[in-house]
Amino acid sequence: MDIQDLADRVAAGERRALARAITLVESARKDHRAQAGVLLEALAPLKREALRIGLSGTPGVGKSTFIEAFGMFLIEKGLKVAVLAVDPSSARSGGSILGDKTRMESLSREKNAFIRPSPSQAQMGGVARRTREAVSLCEAAGFDVVLIETVGVGQSETMVADMSDLFLLLIAPAGGDELQGVKRGIMEIADIILVNKADGPLKETAMRTCADYAGALRLLRKRPYDPVHFPKALMVSAVTHTGLPEAWEAMTELTDWRRAEGHWSTRRAEQARHWFEEDVRIGLLAALEKGEIRDRLNVLGGQVERGEVGASKAAEEMISHIRAEMS
Ligand code: GDP
Repeated sequence: MDIQDLADRVAAGERRALARAITLVESARKDHRAQAGVLLEALAPLKREALRIGLSGTPGVGKSTFIEAFGMFLIEKGLKVAVLAVDPSSARSGGSILGDKTRMESLSREKNAFIRPSPSQAQMGGVARRTREAVSLCEAAGFDVVLIETVGVGQSETMVADMSDLFLLLIAPAGGDELQGVKRGIMEIADIILVNKADGPLKETAMRTCADYAGALRLLRKRPYDPVHFPKALMVSAVTHTGLPEAWEAMTELTDWRRAEGHWSTRRAEQARHWFEEDVRIGLLAALEKGEIRDRLNVLGGQVERGEVGASKAAEEMISHIRAEMS
């Protein structure tokens, strides 16, 4: 494969080349990993940046309907929009909640849109790296907005928030009890909560739900780096498109503010550092499963099982052994 040619075609914004490049970074094969590294290095000097928007919400809340409507809204503004899905359920069950090909039909026909379903892979750390690399590729291909969609499962929301400039939480209108159901941790990472389905008979409930969330958000710790009225809750309808301009206005206001105050680049720098450490950690854990180190773990594990040596003592011995191996 001619990597320089692929890089040139990605840089020229060719969607087929972008799709191929993402397939390359998704591959776990050693030679593919090396090529992916060369590709990403070749594209890095372009220094193209998109607005990375993380979006989460439980199945059925309207994520794909929203992305379709919001994506078209952005395209009508002249922006190029990429959508990447991160779906931990596809790794576990082999079936994906987000991977359905029929989703986002009109968006997928737009030449200024690019939609990529979730890769299926067993391990969250691997998914994080691949998604980050796919985001970089979309940026290099000249996309203005990269939407990273995930379901409210496990660590996927924190992971997506840690690679986004903005994090949106989509929720459905519901009675007061529902508020308790949204984990506090998720409320804390959301920049904007969008109460979807604010249309027809659901509109009144949506208004109440929105007010409830606005109240709950006011009780959270203030963020020193954001305007005082953030994080905020807004109503939208992905079906009637009401609230989309207001939602975009809030996103723009927040990103403009963060850019002007220097928080945008600080956040990206912190995220890069976080992912560096995370990758080192994942690499070390993977090394534990290989060859001589794995054998040694098995031997010591057996001794601990038989009571021949204590767990902490065996762990110390194991760590000294790894240190010696590495030096
Ligand atoms: P996802 O699982 O989060 O991607 O949710 P979908 O986008 O597939 O939507 C789930 C259901 O909610 C579908 O039947 C949609 O038609 C419906 N839905 C999505 N957005 C809206 C909305 O704004 N208003 C109404 N009334 N229904 C919606």
